[in-house]
Amino acid sequence: MMRSVEIVEVGPRDGLQSEPGIMPTAAKIVFIERLLAAGLRRIEVASFVNPKRVPQMADAEQVLAGLAKRPDVHYVGLVLNRKGFDRAVAAGCNEIGMAVVASDTFNRRNQGVGTDESIAAWLDIARAARTAGLRAQVTVSAAFGCPFEGEMPLERVVDVARRCAEAEPFEIALADTIGVGVPAQVTELVAAVRAAISPVTRLRAHFHNTRNTGLANAWAAVQAGVTTLDASTGGIGGCPFAPAATGNIPTEDLVYMLARAGYATGVDLDALIATSQWLQDTLGRAVPGMLVKAGNFPRIAAERAA
Ligand code: ZN
Repeated sequence: MMRSVEIVEVGPRDGLQSEPGIMPTAAKIVFIERLLAAGLRRIEVASFVNPKRVPQMADAEQVLAGLAKRPDVHYVGLVLNRKGFDRAVAAGCNEIGMAVVASDTFNRRNQGVGTDESIAAWLDIARAARTAGLRAQVTVSAAFGCPFEGEMPLERVVDVARRCAEAEPFEIALADTIGVGVPAQVTELVAAVRAAISPVTRLRAHFHNTRNTGLANAWAAVQAGVTTLDASTGGIGGCPFAPAATGNIPTEDLVYMLARAGYATGVDLDALIATSQWLQDTLGRAVPGMLVKAGNFPRIAAERAA
């Protein structure tokens, strides 16, 4: 039986929110449509946060309005509080993603409240989502290190994850928001969180390639039993509130690594590379990903298949 890994494409949100410029709404919709055509079925399309703080996401409602609703696609809206949740539901998101930062200092900088208040907000959102028949998941951010507090004690991350898991969401994610994690840490943290939460809650992982360990971390996560990974096409992204945070792991580079190891992702790699090229043209600069420069391999087989 072929093994598989599900990819959540976060380029339209995590990627574009840290771009210096603002991609026009129509281009964002083209971007998302291209991702759908390449086979991606879970896409983080917008965040419902204060547009004064994140002007790149000010058109969240308009982006959702421009997307065709499909039963096989989850459009994920990222929220940080109940107000954002209500906006995301009204806009038509059929999956809600909430973020709680493991570090209290980072949570206050990012969301204006402490970690405990964000956990309480998440438990409220999880209940509201259940009532509305929507699926909701939560990401534990800065799980591998914090730009303000430094090392995140493993017990602290496990405790935050365990408290978030009390809502029994279908999924919890561990995020290396600033790209400081290393594979050995991934192995250890995934095992510790797995042991602390209900087996009905799946684990997802979110890596940034700030220190070039992103793909190695993704591989370690898969080997540790994580079956869903976040990635952004071209490797664009970062966090406007995290100093020096750079791109997410590039989706096409991740698909390449997994495909050659025998993991199905449902993604058409050549279509995704073409989308990454489109992204470079649209942004007017090179993206960090490597496949967009080096190409698929073996090319001959890819050409024969085409
Ligand atoms: Zn991120």
